[in-house]
Amino acid sequence: MRFPPIRSGRLIPLMALSLLALFAAGCQREPTPETATPTARPETAVSAEDRDEHSYAEPEKVVIDDLALDLALGFDSKTLAGTATYTLDWKDDGATQLVLDTRDLAIDRVEGQTDGGWQPLQYTLDAPDELLGSRLAIETPERNALVRVTYRTSPGASGLQWLEPSMTEGGELPFMFSQSQAIHARSWVPLQDTPSVRYTYSAKIASRPDVMVLMSADNDPAAERDGDYAFEMPQPIPSYLMAIAAGDLVFKPISGRAGVWAEPAMVDEAVEEFADTEEMIRTTEQLYGPYRWERYDLLILPPSFPFGGMENPRLSFITPTVIVGDKSLVSLIAHELAHSWSGNLVTNASWKDMWLNEGFTSYVENRIVEALYGKEVADMEFVIAREGLQKDLAETPSELQVLAVRPGDARDPDDTFGAVAYDKGAWFLQFLEERFGRETLDAFLRGYFDHFAFQSISTATFVEYAKAELLPKQPDAVTESELEAWLYEPGIPASAPQVLSPRLGLVDSARLAWLGSAQLPPQSMTAEWTTQEWIHFLEGMPETLTLEQMSQLDTAYSFSGTPNGELAMRWYPLAVRSGYAIAYEPMSAFLQRIGRRKLIMPVYEALAQSEQGLAFARRVFERARPGYHPITIASVQKTLDEAKPRPAPAVTPPPPEPEVEGGAGADGTSPQAPSAG
Ligand SMILES: [Zn+2]
Repeated sequence: MRFPPIRSGRLIPLMALSLLALFAAGCQREPTPETATPTARPETAVSAEDRDEHSYAEPEKVVIDDLALDLALGFDSKTLAGTATYTLDWKDDGATQLVLDTRDLAIDRVEGQTDGGWQPLQYTLDAPDELLGSRLAIETPERNALVRVTYRTSPGASGLQWLEPSMTEGGELPFMFSQSQAIHARSWVPLQDTPSVRYTYSAKIASRPDVMVLMSADNDPAAERDGDYAFEMPQPIPSYLMAIAAGDLVFKPISGRAGVWAEPAMVDEAVEEFADTEEMIRTTEQLYGPYRWERYDLLILPPSFPFGGMENPRLSFITPTVIVGDKSLVSLIAHELAHSWSGNLVTNASWKDMWLNEGFTSYVENRIVEALYGKEVADMEFVIAREGLQKDLAETPSELQVLAVRPGDARDPDDTFGAVAYDKGAWFLQFLEERFGRETLDAFLRGYFDHFAFQSISTATFVEYAKAELLPKQPDAVTESELEAWLYEPGIPASAPQVLSPRLGLVDSARLAWLGSAQLPPQSMTAEWTTQEWIHFLEGMPETLTLEQMSQLDTAYSFSGTPNGELAMRWYPLAVRSGYAIAYEPMSAFLQRIGRRKLIMPVYEALAQSEQGLAFARRVFERARPGYHPITIASVQKTLDEAKPRPAPAVTPPPPEPEVEGGAGADGTSPQAPSAG
């Protein structure tokens, strides 16, 4: 998902940055390269050391081969209710139990198919673990080939968000959508909720007839809106790619195999903005082999979507805030599309190895951006991503600074959705490119995607494959210790290739000059700056500025109240640290309008540093909360609960009361959009 850095394909003066919203945007140490044993590759079953600690499932005993859903979607009750029927593949001759992951599900009954038809099965639903949910153990003495669970979701299901009509663009019909990654699928389907298990699925969904229902499956662009929908997903996927959405959605094509689903008021703009999607698909196919999922459509979500995008197969979920009228933020599409190879096709077998999804994808994303928009833009994006990574590393415990995280080090898999997996991972791929040459690495990656297509793998499996297929191409190119450092050691290895961006260098000069002389850069210069350059300008500021400096910048560039979320997420924390009270009111409005974690968490975190800021943050959160996604609510709540504020300095002026108007998601045009961003 994303959580990505932002890119801008053309020069945009700040005042025209309307809504450049931007996106955007953890293991026992795996066997080291020296000690890795060349055992059989994991396909669906996983070895004990690769066991997914974030699932109760026991895929070494039995796996789900196919899932058939028959659900009623109730907007009034905010529930999905019906049956999930599993076709099972029993791996272990002695196994007589099917263990599934659930969270906040009401289980009505469980049955197994026998010669005599469907018969009740005994089951136990454990008390919930706060992180993992409830283990559902089904007794299957006959090792049934088919098992059926009748259940309903909770209105507070962590993987679903239900929006009132007032929180949509059209304002007439309600909207709902899922976000299953990382371990939220279990809150709307009882599943082996681990990326190590892949299955095909079909679904029948009954809803009110005036909404269109879509899934991460074979959505028919010509489907009739009648309340009765059927889906097939013939390619096997892991559970975190289960997805559903419903609302006032219409379709418009981009190409023969790509198009946009959006609310009617958004669809034309979206099609125009994402017109390069087909070229992106073709570019990626030329690099890494055919697109294997048939259609590639985009679903434009309301602004409360907690991430920039989510790579649900055949139907990427996209924040509306990247629709800015100038294609300047479409690297988000490159990212989600890239997941069709890295992530959806070749999948991390557990969230400890998330870099296999996100690092590869961030690298591929940058290659797509380079191919479509040029190396200068791609390099700026790498530089900005790495500045973010360096900051992130300063606050990340060393055990989470490694690509291959050890078991137990990431209790919540959402903790691994950070710059390390994305940007250190992409940096490692760029390191390999530098050492082996682009042609060799491209050929290797194409073979890698073919070889492991529709499989879930661990870092150890990647290392084994690289040692067989890449390292021998140039035996002196990379040493064992360099490989070791990249995968298993914290920080950034000394071997990391450096990317320079002359354009961002000019921004550094302008900032330094201003800090030294209070002389702002000439308007003729800043008028040409892209979003990346403005980000870089703010990123390089000292920890605090004087009130005079803040005021000078704000007067010149109108940072307070900027519709550009990427700038807001950098300006408001600076304002909080600097005691710049004028920013509090627009900051409050921003926090209530936007639900995207990446953009708002830095603001909450800055506020939580002082007693006064924390009190303000609590008041704002109380008002914003009804419009936030459950994932966002959990993140903000945690930050506020765990805050250790220092007493406020007596000179800081008291911040005004938060604004009341609107809630997150109420403004379809606001910048927002994770990654698990
Ligand atoms: Zn991603």
